[in-house]
Amino acid sequence: MTKLSNSLGAADIATALHPYTNARRHEEAGPMVMRRGDGVRVEDAQGKTYIEALAGLWSVAVGFSEPRLVEAARRQMEALPYYHSFAHKAHEPAIRLGEKLVEMTPEGLDRVFFTNSGSEANDTVVKMVWYMNNALGRPEKKKFLARTKGYHGITVASGSLTGLPANHRDFDLPVIPVTHLTCPHHYRFGRDGESEADFTARLLAEAEEVIEREGPETIAAFIGEPLMAAGGVMPPPEGYWPGIEALCRKHDILLVSDEVICGFGRLGSPFGCTHYGFTPDIMVTSKQLTSSYMPLAAVIFSEKIYDAIADNSAKIGTFGHGFTGSGHPVATAVGLENLAIIEERDLMGNAARMGARLQEGLRRFAGHELVGEVRGTGLIAGLELVRDKATRESFDPVGKVGTLAFEIAHEEGMVIRNVGDTLALCPPLIVTEADVDEIVARMGRILDRTL
Ligand code: PLP
Repeated sequence: MTKLSNSLGAADIATALHPYTNARRHEEAGPMVMRRGDGVRVEDAQGKTYIEALAGLWSVAVGFSEPRLVEAARRQMEALPYYHSFAHKAHEPAIRLGEKLVEMTPEGLDRVFFTNSGSEANDTVVKMVWYMNNALGRPEKKKFLARTKGYHGITVASGSLTGLPANHRDFDLPVIPVTHLTCPHHYRFGRDGESEADFTARLLAEAEEVIEREGPETIAAFIGEPLMAAGGVMPPPEGYWPGIEALCRKHDILLVSDEVICGFGRLGSPFGCTHYGFTPDIMVTSKQLTSSYMPLAAVIFSEKIYDAIADNSAKIGTFGHGFTGSGHPVATAVGLENLAIIEERDLMGNAARMGARLQEGLRRFAGHELVGEVRGTGLIAGLELVRDKATRESFDPVGKVGTLAFEIAHEEGMVIRNVGDTLALCPPLIVTEADVDEIVARMGRILDRTL
């Protein structure tokens, strides 16, 4: 491979290490180079178009060609392309977006801290919670509760909260004190003959048993995605979240709702916590916040947490945390415009309506020989492929058939993601009835060709 290759693919193979990619396989297969986006579709360098049925990485709410976001970025680039918010500095887009987030999120979430990514936001949560408990004179209250198969990012702390083997193995994670509770996915983790209600009761009993065994005075926070997305699109069983919320309140444990995927209408409700009926002390948002046109994440939290941190910063002289890009003016300007579009075009309502159509369409595949479970709500769905429908036996090795379906999807002109053998769909919130019907039709062809 020459270093000065004029082929994009060859240059990529020669120089890049890709995230979440088998590097040696990539050297043979090469990249799929994308060059243009239009609504819910993207086009590759060969001119082939695809329905982007994963909205990029679960994130492009308004589609791939929204001129208002381009214009918002351009305006801000011209006025003030960069400024920071360290040491009392501020600028209008970050102030206005902070105000908007406080207004949109449930009662009790009153303060905002910006980061560049969901991972940084969750690292910020860990550090804020530790700082707060040190400030409150309870330095032993530091542990986190999370869930197996949960996804919270890949930095050292957020990667520790994540409960997936690939994010821990050979990275020497977890390194922060975290206990991963059973994944609340009835199809895979329910026992033979166990009803969903009994499953919920068992998970809540397990959580309380862990809290009591470890001591509530040592446990700082519980973190979870309202609907577990990147681990395989797993909605919680009925009653799970109100039960977890009650346990957190009883034992003085902060409840963190990681809404990086669920936030801003993905489930057909404004937020995952509003969808499942609980109120967190801290909410983490990103992705659909800017439709990922710019990197941005926001931690939104209660006044009580703010007060403890503020008092401590006065004592120490500073809150010693923040990124060069925290509240970046171009990213926050794009975020503001993106949220305005979501509201003006009622994209959350569209997600509810189109989501119902998508879920109904996909459930037609429940009888397909390859499909063990069809699951999801709103505009997020997963189809788990199995070797044996009756016993729920997985393919061996897990992921081989899912990867085959993922590749066939490209041939069929659709971008999806396979999480092991679960095929994930998460289209932009702007999808139309015709788009949804096309996604379902292509999924049918993908399944038939994978068989
Ligand atoms: N939290 C959740 C729920 C996510 O789905 C993700 C990314 O998919 C993250 C955190 C990490 O975000 P990022 O990739 O921006 O670091």
